[in-house]
Amino acid sequence: MADIDSWAPATLAAQGLGRIDETTQALIPPIHVSTTYLRDAAYELTGGFNYTRIDNPTYGQPEALLARLEGGEAALLFASGLAAASTVFLALKPGDHVVAPKVMYYGLQQWLRVHALEWGLQVEFVDASATEAVAAALKPGKTRLVWLETPSNPMWDVSDIAACAELAHRAGAKLAVDSTVGAATITHPIALGADLVMHSATKYLNGHSDVLAGALVTSVEDELWERIGFLRIHQGAVLGPIEAWLLMRGMRTLPLRVERACRSAQQVAERFAADPRIAAVLYPGLPSHPQHAVAARQMRGGFGGMLSLRVRGGEAAALAVAARVKLWKRATSLGGVESLIEHRASVEVGTTTPGDLLRLSTGLEDPADLIADLDQALGN
Ligand SMILES: *Cc1c(COP(=O)(O)O)cnc(C)c1O
Repeated sequence: MADIDSWAPATLAAQGLGRIDETTQALIPPIHVSTTYLRDAAYELTGGFNYTRIDNPTYGQPEALLARLEGGEAALLFASGLAAASTVFLALKPGDHVVAPKVMYYGLQQWLRVHALEWGLQVEFVDASATEAVAAALKPGKTRLVWLETPSNPMWDVSDIAACAELAHRAGAKLAVDSTVGAATITHPIALGADLVMHSATKYLNGHSDVLAGALVTSVEDELWERIGFLRIHQGAVLGPIEAWLLMRGMRTLPLRVERACRSAQQVAERFAADPRIAAVLYPGLPSHPQHAVAARQMRGGFGGMLSLRVRGGEAAALAVAARVKLWKRATSLGGVESLIEHRASVEVGTTTPGDLLRLSTGLEDPADLIADLDQALGN
């Protein structure tokens, strides 16, 4: 067996940590669909498993790989990104104070605005790209959690993870980062001081727009992590074994896919940055991005596959561009092999997203084709 400790992320992913099925020597792992496991005559569970809501052997490899890529001690898979994220908040107690971004993934923000309040959390929304705003919101001894999303939907603001981690810890709070866009290969929040990392594994980790899944990674297996583990069992928002197997297959190509998506996004951003038909390109990889310096420090090997274009001419012009694309698919979500374009303001109720904004997820097509399609869709 090669020295796995020295393996680069692409090697770890491609080889699935080098794991081989012990009983058959199969390179590709089996899918364990059984919901229940045998006890012996002494009434002991001898295989290490009991009931699939508690744990499933198909989770082992993708959880271990994700923990390894993120530099954490352990990972847990969930039925969706929102199931993973909401579990972190439900592991807190009524009355706890939480700091969260004002601009963030719409679905989670909806959850925080409705259910977190009913659960009794005191959620304070701040501009999380401004470290001083995070500092001002912290209540030492009362704030239990600071939640970041970086780069954040759909404006791609970047939060300074290391600075926020230090502030949160000084106030006695934990730092959790939704690193869905960081994709486990270009941003490593735990190395920067974060306690928890969350992924919508539906996006880059699976990468093929055919699995809904979520994941959490912890820096240490502490009491909060134990509560999160029990919540997964007791709420039952667990991933199906077939989905876990598909996720593992997707993760084998994660570094390669993310590398390509980043490169194409950078090319698209640069091509349209000074285009007169565009009012602004929002992308952390452009020197004009307000937090480009922070992004350059904490994102390695690329600035992500997500960017937004603000189209000159406002909402009607943006919708007209979306209507004219032939290659980019008009659909929600991100991180798949096919490039997606979305007019976010149309799908967010009570939105603060500008009407002229088109969110782009660059996939794996040839970037020249992607650029040519946007160019024709922008018209003259
Ligand atoms: C998609 C997404 C989520 C929610 O994940 P689901 O898998 O759809 O539940 C959370 N955060 C970000 C940044 C996302 O893109």
